[in-house]
Amino acid sequence: MSLKGAGGKTLLPGSVLGILGGGQLGRMFAMAAKRLGYRVAVLEPAPDSPCGQVADIVIQADYTDEAALRRLAAVSDAVTYEFENVDARAVEFLESLGKPVHPSSSALRITQDRILEKTFARENGIPVTPFASVRSADEARAVFHGEAFPGFLKTARGGYDGKGQARVGNGEEAARAWADFKGHDLILEKLVPFEKEISVVACRGRDGSFAAYPPAENAHVRNILDVSVLPARVSAASAAAAVKIARQVGEGLSIVGTFCVELFVLPDGEIWLNEIAPRPHNSGHATLDACLCSQFEQQVRALCGLPLGSTALLRPAAMVNLVGDGGGDRLAGVDVLLADPEAALHLYGKKHAPRGRKMGHFTVLGETADAAEAKARALRSNLKWEA
Ligand code: AMP
Repeated sequence: MSLKGAGGKTLLPGSVLGILGGGQLGRMFAMAAKRLGYRVAVLEPAPDSPCGQVADIVIQADYTDEAALRRLAAVSDAVTYEFENVDARAVEFLESLGKPVHPSSSALRITQDRILEKTFARENGIPVTPFASVRSADEARAVFHGEAFPGFLKTARGGYDGKGQARVGNGEEAARAWADFKGHDLILEKLVPFEKEISVVACRGRDGSFAAYPPAENAHVRNILDVSVLPARVSAASAAAAVKIARQVGEGLSIVGTFCVELFVLPDGEIWLNEIAPRPHNSGHATLDACLCSQFEQQVRALCGLPLGSTALLRPAAMVNLVGDGGGDRLAGVDVLLADPEAALHLYGKKHAPRGRKMGHFTVLGETADAAEAKARALRSNLKWEA
């Protein structure tokens, strides 16, 4: 087999991989890259970032700083990004300098705008939550034939972990939310009476190859992912439909790299697309410990034009997010967690743990998804944020 993938030369170990964004996703990407012998350059505005702590080259600057972007392009052989709210113009600028960036700015532009993203899905025959781009309650009522509510009003851009969205049960609540989100493009989605939320983390190579991990089953608390179980407990038909959506999204947007589709499972087993993330995803963190090739290593492989790795689950797993609760910055009880032979702990090197901040996660392997989840939830009760 030739190592030469489509879209340029294969980047061999020793090459420098650039990343926009220095959070935990960048950190885990950098650690996967370094395990394979690559070097990493990160552009991030904050000092002492999770990725900056492990990168070889740190450029501390705003994502829109042209001199900094030029420097990132100069030191990197290819560039990726770790979160979709990075300004697409930064990615376009890097592309204009002739630097390979994956996923491309056009995929980023679509996935960072809920209206463009869901329109893309609808136009490509991908089952998606009913939605409309709206400016008023009257418009919403007209679009949904009088049944606009209950629904979710969301800003088209810039929201994450439930920020920039409101559940609206009637016209009055919608009017209040409209006022709160004034100045933003808005999307109104029908409330989906889903049975479960699942996601598929997948990767597309530069040569169009495709690999998907089994769907993960996700439970949220206050809109932040809390527990993710791999594989999701859904029918084989639902799992296949979920992976099909991931493939359609990857091919339709010509994504190169790791990406994720967040999906709703309806009571009849049907699957609808909720959101696309053009990057590794929190619900794929268990692949670090439950698979031979993690979602982060896949991102490295795709960026470098290498063959994609195995997405087979070695064992079922459950991942628990460790989120700050305001109780303090020190995580007590890790000794109890680490005494368990089937638990793996990942902390992101963040100094402060304010309420709602993702500080780390742990993964527990088990004989079955149920067993892994039960043990993970039990082990969590030993952990506590302390001052
Ligand atoms: P999002 O930022 O779009 O992923 O939304 C965050 C969470 O809000 C989702 O994971 C769901 O739990 C819930 N949610 C969002 N949109 C809808 C919807 N249209 N119907 C039902 N629940 C939703």
